[in-house]
Amino acid sequence: MDNPGRFEAVIGLEVHAQLATASKIFCGCRVEFGAPPNSLTCPVCQGLPGALPVLNKRAVEFAVRLVLATGGTVNQRSVFARKNYFYPDLPKGYQISQYEAPLGIGGRLKIPSTSEDVNKVVRLKRVHLEEDAGKSLHPETGEYQTRIDLNRCGTPLIEIVTEPEIRTPREAYEYLVMLKQILQYLEICTGDMEKGHLRCDANISVKPADSSEFGTRTELKNLNSFRWVERALAYEIDRQTQTIVAGRKVEQMTLLWNEKKQIAEPMRSKEESHDYRYFPEPDLVNLVIDDVWLAKLKSNLPELPEQKAARFVKQFQIPEYDAGVLTSSRGLADYYETVMRNYTDGKTASNWVMTEIMRVLNEEKSDIESFRLKPEATAELLNLIKDGTVSGKIAKEIFAEMLATGKSASEILSAKGLTQISDSTLINEIIERVLTQDRENLKKYLSGKTQIFGHFVGAVMKETKGKANPALVNKLLKEKLDALAR
Ligand code: ADP
Ligand code: MG
Ligand code: ZN
Repeated sequence: MDNPGRFEAVIGLEVHAQLATASKIFCGCRVEFGAPPNSLTCPVCQGLPGALPVLNKRAVEFAVRLVLATGGTVNQRSVFARKNYFYPDLPKGYQISQYEAPLGIGGRLKIPSTSEDVNKVVRLKRVHLEEDAGKSLHPETGEYQTRIDLNRCGTPLIEIVTEPEIRTPREAYEYLVMLKQILQYLEICTGDMEKGHLRCDANISVKPADSSEFGTRTELKNLNSFRWVERALAYEIDRQTQTIVAGRKVEQMTLLWNEKKQIAEPMRSKEESHDYRYFPEPDLVNLVIDDVWLAKLKSNLPELPEQKAARFVKQFQIPEYDAGVLTSSRGLADYYETVMRNYTDGKTASNWVMTEIMRVLNEEKSDIESFRLKPEATAELLNLIKDGTVSGKIAKEIFAEMLATGKSASEILSAKGLTQISDSTLINEIIERVLTQDRENLKKYLSGKTQIFGHFVGAVMKETKGKANPALVNKLLKEKLDALAR
């Protein structure tokens, strides 16, 4: 920013999360990504006259889970509303959403420590249920053409709206990471942005840092990844700041992020909510969640990231830092826990997952869910180190081979003869050989230059192509040299 310290950004995020139900929110059509166009539709989601919606109970359960997990209040009587607008991929001419009485109110998400605010909490304004619209496709056929695919019509969504209390692009990014994490823990959304399962719009304004009054906001759309959100916000903070500094007014509007050009381009002047002519949906009764059902949903909440991290510290005796990293995603936590079902040393396993495995995931830009080594295979390798069959160094070679070939550690071990040499007689023979071949250094050592001990260790390891058990080599070598010195 041009005037650091003088201006401050105010950011509020609206996230649409696709609920991972098998069927749509108001009909029985399957929800599936990538099916042939218009193959997953029926009169209800096609918006044919006279067709009536029936609410999917599972979608309600999923939404309630998020409200409970974030400490929000479940509105036990919420109301569906029609949000009217015209768009080719919205055949009914309205979207069924919630407006005045949303399912969830309040709640909060703690975001990881940033330099600005270590205990930053972002409060949620509301969580509501709604249906998705279809998709307009603009194939490059040469002629001007739009094709409509209604498969996505009626896909269940929740919209999660924050209070305007995010202050930096970085915090926005971190909020999204935490939101995705909790959605995945709750098993209510895959969080897959590429498939559009998670979509974010960002509202942003800029104000003098010492003022409590908010400035005029713009809304950023087309933010297809968390990184894009971060970059688009930084761009827009800069643009608004410069506008104000130049004595002009920020205009309220909707902008589309152009990732190629790294700019936000005006899409339309922002519509007001009265433009949507909201009114209660007459085809659906109020959504009532009774005490018994609510209590049941509460008691069925899965273990959340913080609870899991605390349990890992206790159960597997690992530092809090490790537990935090391992529980950063549900998939990683599950992976580690399965390793530990087949292995006993918590810290060694966490080191291995955090360094070796996460390094590979980073390099390959993939995630643990699609990682080709199953946790059982990793546990097998760790057990080979533990019982002294292979050294740590060889284990890394085997690990690379496992990744390349998909073979198990023991298969590679027997095929390559990589078993660690823990046979004292054999190692003593090699020590003997090394010492007789290197009389010069031996003389030096015996005359008091004991710091070259490591040189002999290295020579023995080299002779065995790194397969000798290093601890044993150290011990036997020391014994031998001590005997010679006497
Ligand atoms: P609308 O009804 O127009 O969608 P909301 O009150 O629901 O407006 O707010 C939408 C989002 O915009 C929320 O995340 C909110 O925190 C955020 N927001 C509201 N006012 C501002 C502002 N002045 N600057 C930045 N964000 C804002
Ligand atoms: Mg809104
Ligand atoms: Zn349908």
